[in-house]
Amino acid sequence: MTKRVVLIGHPVAHSLSGAMQQAAFDQLGIDATYELWDRPPIELADAIAELRGEDFLGANVTIPHKERVVPMVDRLTEEGQATGAVNTITREGKRLVGHNTDVAGFRVALDKLVGKQKMPRAAVVLGAGGGARAVVYGLITEGFQRIVVFNRHLHRAEGLVKHFGRTAAHMELRAMPWHESIIESELAKTKLLVNATSIGLISDESPIPAEVLHAELLVLDVIYAKTRLLKDAAAAGAETLDGELMLLHQGAAAFTLWTGQPAPLDLMQQKLAEARAEGIRSAEGEPAGQPSGALAE
Ligand code: NDP
Repeated sequence: MTKRVVLIGHPVAHSLSGAMQQAAFDQLGIDATYELWDRPPIELADAIAELRGEDFLGANVTIPHKERVVPMVDRLTEEGQATGAVNTITREGKRLVGHNTDVAGFRVALDKLVGKQKMPRAAVVLGAGGGARAVVYGLITEGFQRIVVFNRHLHRAEGLVKHFGRTAAHMELRAMPWHESIIESELAKTKLLVNATSIGLISDESPIPAEVLHAELLVLDVIYAKTRLLKDAAAAGAETLDGELMLLHQGAAAFTLWTGQPAPLDLMQQKLAEARAEGIRSAEGEPAGQPSGALAE
């Protein structure tokens, strides 16, 4: 029987994950298809229930469902539990297990950005959605001692901080209101900046003004593109990295969870690059809209 893996999101009209996962199944001779399911929130519970069928290996879950899906699975892994967000589902018989492989993807990206330098201990995170939860958990478990989260809607950042209460008890995790002057003063004493908002995904906009960036910064944008933020940061002399490695490695980790086999990383990276060249945008948080200038390069 051909097995099925689905990406559940809204919208999911185009997907970089589809390109890399299907190629990986095909290369390893795994008889499986990767399907895109566009499901609005009201249809999410039915979609998750369907995954209990024998033909499913599991699923990816993306915007806007990563947090909403948590109570719909039967068991959470440590990362799923700790982040309160699920991006990958596997099946144990009729039971569903919720994982968060964005955390593993983020760790690979962070290591690459920091390189041979000493791992920083303080970070500024922009955004408080599902992606930001994986980022914050990755930073806490990496040993960061101070993380400041800025979000347009402050209550969501406060909810994130509250969620990590016990996990972050030994360090300082704070939510702050989105004011440029506060962001600037925090960045002045910080080495690492992570953008986990979707600003820059479909337009050539940066979440923060170029003037607040400085040459000592390491800047990671989880968006898979050379965003305006990354261009501004590079112009300021900062080290930069986009979301490609995170996307690749969250996908590789998911592939291994579904199949029990190591992911063909080179092939998956090549498929991502090809899909990007064709102008396919990421469904990992992809809003509907026109192709972005940022992604067109
Ligand atoms: P969510 O919808 O959960 O969160 C979106 C975040 O962006 C929120 O913090 C939201 O703020 C903020 N935001 C959106 N629009 C605006 C705006 N106009 N002004 C200010 N803030 C805004 O999405 P995710 O967390 O799942 O994804 C966020 C980004 O991360 C996406 O671009 C996605 O592609 C990327 N991502 C990349 C991954 C990778 O593997 N490379 C993995 C996961 C995510 P508010 O709460 O105030 O609305």
